[in-house]
Amino acid sequence: MISRSVIGRMPSGAEIIECRLVNARATEAAVLTLGATLRALLVDAADGRREDVVLGFETAAEYLHGKDYFGATIGRYANRIANGRFSLHGRQYQLSLNDGPNSEHGGLEGFDRRLWTLEGTESAGGAAVSLALSSADGDQGYPGELAVQVTYTLTDQDELRIDYRAVSTAATVLNLTNHTYWNLAGAAAGDALAASLYVAADAYTPIDGQRIPTGELRAVAGTPFDFRAPHVIAARIRDGSEPQLALGGGYDHNFVLRGASGTLRTVARLADLRSQRTLELLTTEPGLQVYSGNFLSGTVPGKGRRLYRQGDGICLETQHFPDSPNQPHFPSTVLEPGQVWCSTTVYRLMSHSDIAESDLPSPVPARARQSA
Ligand code: BGC
Repeated sequence: MISRSVIGRMPSGAEIIECRLVNARATEAAVLTLGATLRALLVDAADGRREDVVLGFETAAEYLHGKDYFGATIGRYANRIANGRFSLHGRQYQLSLNDGPNSEHGGLEGFDRRLWTLEGTESAGGAAVSLALSSADGDQGYPGELAVQVTYTLTDQDELRIDYRAVSTAATVLNLTNHTYWNLAGAAAGDALAASLYVAADAYTPIDGQRIPTGELRAVAGTPFDFRAPHVIAARIRDGSEPQLALGGGYDHNFVLRGASGTLRTVARLADLRSQRTLELLTTEPGLQVYSGNFLSGTVPGKGRRLYRQGDGICLETQHFPDSPNQPHFPSTVLEPGQVWCSTTVYRLMSHSDIAESDLPSPVPARARQSA
């Protein structure tokens, strides 16, 4: 079932629409045309309570001024491009800078700030909504006129699927993601880092002081970046012997995912023991930014006027690697005219009563397990 309503206006006066997708289990996703944003994901708990498992705001106006990218579609380039500069086919491009000397999440006016057009609201796989955006040649410094489409589908199996599609009139670079902050215990529950995380990655890309990848692919083995067996996120985040955690202010790193890029495969699992909920993540992307909400400042009220503090949400951003246009050995982010850029990510919500015991993380915190 799909319903839509006007929930605010852009400074230009244009209407901001919210679409609500509801499935057979009464799970409900709210998607805004502003930023093609996932504003809410409401799920029923075993005790009948209803919880919203994603952070965000109540009104559209707050999304216009927010700086944390709650639930937004990020483009043209998720994460950072060093000095906002790259060359492509012999030409240099300068992007708009919004992160010190670098360009982050698409620059000053990224896709999260744009009003997308509502295109269709049906699909065979479940309740779906498609949003389209046209980004002009030269937008934020990027070449080529880009036509982007993002489709959210909510299946009756409690999967929220995001399909991205884009074409460009000239060679360009592209890296789209969704910037949802998850807290499976509920958006107002605080501390999302009490959940345990599994990531199918043998390596990650370490960063420098500006959070730009150094270019190295470093093995996770023996480090707090090893999530190949589930670990409570908070358990190792304060490990001062790991300089990368100080550079990131916590986890703010790209993981090199196992398996073939382009193939939809399970890459991560977030399990929350308080709520007995697990989120399984599938993607066609080669990378995953694990961002532990380090910059949530506790100064901006979100839903229910709740102040979100550091670690109150965790972002699992499926992506190509940061700064790829300047790192020739990273998987390419170049989109040529005539090519169709496609990417899919699925967030599968599961209640622990539906999961085999052997697939659940141990209730013992990782630290205790290690010293046992
Ligand atoms: C980045 C963080 C950044 C945050 C902004 C994340 O994707 O990795 O470094 O501060 O987005 O909300």
